[in-house]
Amino acid sequence: MNAPSVGPVIETLRRLVAFDTVSSHPNAALIDWAAERLEASGIRVLVQHGDEPGKANLFATIGPEDRPGLMLSGHSDVVPVTGQAWRSDPFTLTERDDRLHGRGAADMKGFIACVLEAAPRLAHARLDTPLHVALSYNEESNMHGMRQLAAHLAAAPVRPAACIIGEPTSMRVVIANKGTAGYRVKVRGHSVHSSLRDQGVSAVESAAEIIVFVNALQKRLNAAARHDGFEFPHTSVHVGRIEGGTAHNITAKDCEFLLEIRTLPGTRTGDVLDEIRRHCDTALLPAMRAISPDASITFEEIFDTPALDERGNVYLAQAIMPLCGHLSAGRVSFGTEAGILQEIGVPTIVCGPGQIRVAHQPDEYVEIAQLQACSRFLGVLGERLAGGRLPLGG
Ligand SMILES: [Zn+2]
Repeated sequence: MNAPSVGPVIETLRRLVAFDTVSSHPNAALIDWAAERLEASGIRVLVQHGDEPGKANLFATIGPEDRPGLMLSGHSDVVPVTGQAWRSDPFTLTERDDRLHGRGAADMKGFIACVLEAAPRLAHARLDTPLHVALSYNEESNMHGMRQLAAHLAAAPVRPAACIIGEPTSMRVVIANKGTAGYRVKVRGHSVHSSLRDQGVSAVESAAEIIVFVNALQKRLNAAARHDGFEFPHTSVHVGRIEGGTAHNITAKDCEFLLEIRTLPGTRTGDVLDEIRRHCDTALLPAMRAISPDASITFEEIFDTPALDERGNVYLAQAIMPLCGHLSAGRVSFGTEAGILQEIGVPTIVCGPGQIRVAHQPDEYVEIAQLQACSRFLGVLGERLAGGRLPLGG
């Protein structure tokens, strides 16, 4: 299978970008459209309805269904464009200087366009090893789509032998990513006139004490485990937003802040959170409750995604690297769905067209050359799967 002209890939990408699939909006129209396209080539498609109205995953199988195959996976949702200054309409794919601009062009509808365009050829290639196509929802918010799909795959009689997630890596293989978790921390204090401050509990000051602890924890983490494969080589904790109190002369009843944890593979986000919780339970809450029994500190999970650990996917990386044209593997600090698949025993790597540094930005783009490289890669992959020459068994 030779790589065909990139024109049809660009047209497919144009259609994909035109679906406004910002994570807070429905994605089902895109999924239905993709399902129809795949079915038109005789490919078996499962549309899995999501846990929110208008949300859906897609899972398709090309080739035999009785044996484990290779899954190509992409998220169909994109980040918002609110407040961003775009030179052209973000939902109209626009070409400038061999680059295609549009929301999701890099992250990651470019990859999905390459896969959808390659699918009919793969369907005719009589694959020995099946190829699966997975499209998920809500990757950019809470990863519920992939969690739901992973639960389905874990219970299926045959689950994929391996997976490639096409997040933008400039077609380099990524073998590890950090775990990421976000929490809304709510501190409840007790409000009095500040002239009587020892009868009140300032939620703002209690939150500040937690944040001082988070800072000290970061220093300890910096002195503990390191992994030089990551740009920031440690597990990190961070407070990105805070809001609380009403006036300078009232002790604050409420304060809320957003806490983020990014873990090295091998460290669980929950373990880091437990350390912060323990500090609250032992060092802060007793004194707060001595004044006001209603005082509280709660941690609401917004998202929690496990790290991708390179142990377990080395052979997969070695099989894929020669096909994508880069013979070295990398590690990234952003979260992907890969760790969720690894948790159900599907070795997973990340490799796709476009650059992560333009993702989520105004004027996001994918280079046409990157789409060509991805299409070539999928062509070679198809040849290997047709000939049963891709070692997926570990
Ligand atoms: Zn992405």
